[in-house]
Amino acid sequence: MTFYVENQAKIISSFFPEQADDYNQLLESFGNFVEKDIAPSARAIDRQGNFPKENMEKIFKQGFTNIPYPHALEGLGLPYPIYIACMEMVGKACASTAISLAIHGTVCDGLYQFGDPDQHEKYLKDLITGRKLAAFGLTEPTSGSDARGSMTTRAESGPAGSWKINGEKMYITNASKADYYFVFAKTPKGFAAFVVPNESPGFSWGSNITKMGLKGSTLMGLTFRNVSVPKENLVGTDGEGFEYAKMMLFGGRITIAALSVGIAQAAMEKTIAYSKEREAFGKHLSDFEITQSKIADMMTQINAARLMTYYAALLKGKKQDFSIEACEAKLYATEMALDVCNEAIQIHGGYGYTDEADVHRHWRDAKLMTIGEGTSEIMKIIIAGKALGKK
Ligand SMILES: Cc1cc2nc3c(=O)[nH]c(=O)nc-3n(C[C@H](O)[C@H](O)[C@H](O)COP(=O)(O)OP(=O)(O)OC[C@H]3O[C@@H](n4cnc5c(N)ncnc54)[C@H](O)[C@@H]3O)c2cc1C
Repeated sequence: MTFYVENQAKIISSFFPEQADDYNQLLESFGNFVEKDIAPSARAIDRQGNFPKENMEKIFKQGFTNIPYPHALEGLGLPYPIYIACMEMVGKACASTAISLAIHGTVCDGLYQFGDPDQHEKYLKDLITGRKLAAFGLTEPTSGSDARGSMTTRAESGPAGSWKINGEKMYITNASKADYYFVFAKTPKGFAAFVVPNESPGFSWGSNITKMGLKGSTLMGLTFRNVSVPKENLVGTDGEGFEYAKMMLFGGRITIAALSVGIAQAAMEKTIAYSKEREAFGKHLSDFEITQSKIADMMTQINAARLMTYYAALLKGKKQDFSIEACEAKLYATEMALDVCNEAIQIHGGYGYTDEADVHRHWRDAKLMTIGEGTSEIMKIIIAGKALGKK
């Protein structure tokens, strides 16, 4: 088995039969790179809580974030599922690295869709090539799932079309490390989105919030005290900001689903290897039918989640409506990853509970996936709304 697994290759081949050899070769080589250069540091990053800067630099050098963007923006012009297959492999190797990249990718996606040519030139090129890093600022201390109803950060128009932002954001990944913050604020017309550079006067971040998993990624609150940004930093149209946030979150949900599939795949592979080594009652664990049944469930669930995730990515890449498919993929893949990691710990027995084994890191990392970019409950509300014909 290679790091790029057969099931991934089969999906990619079925989506892109004419380019199957080229894409699979590219993905296999990216998988080999991730296995050799990224996976080995994952445990230390988790233990020491170090921001995975080196990993990210190496991945940027591979052209990872450039994948779905046109050549004119220094992108590689490849289909979106290729990016998602790479995201899965980074998630499998090191979820702390993957979450930082996923959030960065969500901002790239938003700027690409809603930014103007000057913003593409000034910000997006540097972001997709990894010369600069981005953060996404939507959540606030008293506003999470109900971002539309309870956001308090405000932007008022100032002199010469500039904007003045006041308020606070909370739980922001890549805070303190990012060069650009994609920030949402309320305006008299509704919501607006802005690019706030890190050195803007009045803009600051708090201390790192420690957490149960994804320990290498940073998580902080942001404070805006009369932060002035020029009119060129308004993204798209004032009043449309919340629509942009929604579209960015739908895309982000595909990346979170991919990351979850990667985490689950890592936990399953470690479990299969362990079950072939560990003996009990004179047999390998893998010889017990109950273990086989659990492994069969893991593999089926992972492959189902992967298909849902890559399909949502295919729709997004084709510019078709992918919103419900993204929510379904996120709901299924994130809950699946938690279940798979839970069984992985169980099959590892006492060893699985110790710091010697990696499987509880995978469980701790997987847990966030059911919360960030919209909780499982919110995914169900959106999916049920569609099923029941509600708006
Ligand atoms: C590690 C980490 C990284 C993050 N990174 C970012 C980031 O980069 N940028 C950013 O903007 N945010 C980020 N977040 C915030 C994250 O997106 C929010 O935590 C998430 O959207 C949930 O919001 P909340 O925490 O306010 O929970 P709440 O909205 O307070 O929800 C609490 C619980 O109530 C449930 N609930 C809420 N409303 C309903 C309802 N109508 N019906 C049923 N149940 C409901 C929720 O599902 C949840 O279980 C991050 C969070 C974490 C922990």
